[in-house]
Amino acid sequence: MVYDVIILGSGPAGYTAALYTSRAFLKTLLIAGIQQGGQLMTTTEVENFPGFPKGITGPQLMTDMRVQAERFGTEIKQYQVSGIRYQEKTKTFFVSSGQETFQGRSVIIATGASAQYLGLPSEKKLAGRGVSACATCDGFFFRGKEVVVVGGGDTAMEEASFLTTFATKVTIIHRRSEFRASPIMLARAKKNPKITTLTNKIIEEIVGDTAVTGVRIKDVATGQRTTYKTQGVFLAIGHKPNTEFIKDFVKTDAKGYIFVHGIGKPGDYHTATNVPGIFAAGDCVDFQYRQAAVAAGMGCMAALDVQKYLETTHI
Ligand code: FAD
Ligand code: NAP
Repeated sequence: MVYDVIILGSGPAGYTAALYTSRAFLKTLLIAGIQQGGQLMTTTEVENFPGFPKGITGPQLMTDMRVQAERFGTEIKQYQVSGIRYQEKTKTFFVSSGQETFQGRSVIIATGASAQYLGLPSEKKLAGRGVSACATCDGFFFRGKEVVVVGGGDTAMEEASFLTTFATKVTIIHRRSEFRASPIMLARAKKNPKITTLTNKIIEEIVGDTAVTGVRIKDVATGQRTTYKTQGVFLAIGHKPNTEFIKDFVKTDAKGYIFVHGIGKPGDYHTATNVPGIFAAGDCVDFQYRQAAVAAGMGCMAALDVQKYLETTHI
C-alpha cells in the first residue's frame, strides 16, 4: 500500500489536513501519536474556535474533527513516528514507528509543540484547575482574580500584560534578577500598575487541593521560603516543538521549529519544508500564534499544497 499522503499528528492541524486530503480523494493515513487529539485534549472549555458560539470542550472538538476526517476515508493509526527516510527509486517516503513502516508519496508533519512545565507533582495535579500554560486560552477564567506568571522572557511579559485585562493583580515570578525579555516588553510590563515582579524566586510547590490557592516560593539568594497567595499560575517558561525525530531530515531553527517557505511568490508551496514532498503545519512550525484556529488553517494550507505537489510530481 502506497498512501498519497501520510499525516503525522492528530491535533487541529493534522485532522484538518486529513479532512482536506481525504475529501480530495487522496489516499490518506494519519498517524495520531501518543496524544490522540493533541493539546486540546488537556483543556476544558474552548471558547475561541469559530463556529461554536457557546464554546465546546477540547476533547469534544477533537473527537468531532476526527470523525469528520474519517467520514471522508482518512485511515488512522495510533503510533508515534520515530523516523522518515526517502527512497529515490520509488520517489516515496518510508515513515516508521518502530513497530510498522508506511509508504507515502508525500508527508505532512503536524506534530505540535509541548509547553514546558516546572515538573512539580502539584502542577500536574492542578493542571486545568488554576495551572495553565496559555493565557490567551485561559485568561478569561481569571476575571477578578490574582494570578502569577512564571518566567522572565518575552512570553512572560506578554502573558502578564494580557492577563491584566482580566486579573486584578499579576505577579511575575522569575528565577534570576536579570530578565531575558526584550527591554521594550519588560518596560511595558513594569509600567503596568497591575503587574508586580518577584525576582530570584523559584516555585517549589503549587498549593491547593481542588484549585490553586498559592505557591510556595524559595528565594535563591537567601534560601528563605514563603507562601504567596494566588488563584492562578501561568507557566511561560518556553515551548518545545515535537520535532526531535525529524530534525536531521528537515531543516529546523535552533529550537527545533520547522522552517517552511512561508508566503512568497505566487505558486509557492507555503507549507513546504526544505525536503520536496514534506510539508509542515501547526505548532511545530508556528512559535508565535499557537492557536487551534491557526493550526487548523495551516493544516488546510498543507493539504492544498500536497494536492498541487502530487498533481505536478506524481501524475
Ligand atoms: P497539537 O495539538 O500539539 O497536536 C500534535 C499532535 O502530534 C498530537 O496528536 C501528538 O500525539 C502528535 N505527535 C507528536 N509527536 C508525534 C510523533 N513523533 N509521531 C506521531 N504523532 C506525533 N488554542 C486555542 O485556540 N484555544 C484554546 O482555548 C486553547 N486552549 C489550550 C489549552 C491548553 C491547556 C493548551 C496546552 C493549549 C491550548 N491551545 C488553545 C493551543 C492549541 O491547543 C494549539 O495551538 C493546537 O493544539 C496546535 O495544534 P497542532 O495540530 O499544531 O498540534
Ligand atoms: P525564553 O525566551 O526561552 O524565556 C523563557 C524564560 O523562562 C526565561 O526567563 C527562563 O529563565 C525561564 N525558565 C526556563 N525554564 C525555567 C524553569 N524550569 N523554571 C523557572 N524559569 C524557567 O522563552 P519565551 O519567553 O517563550 O520566548 C521564546 C521566543 O519567542 C523568544 O525568542 C522571544 O523573544 C519570542 N517572543 C517574542 C514575543 C514578541 O516579540 N512579542 C512574544 C513572545 C515570545 P532564564 O532567563 O533564567 O533562563
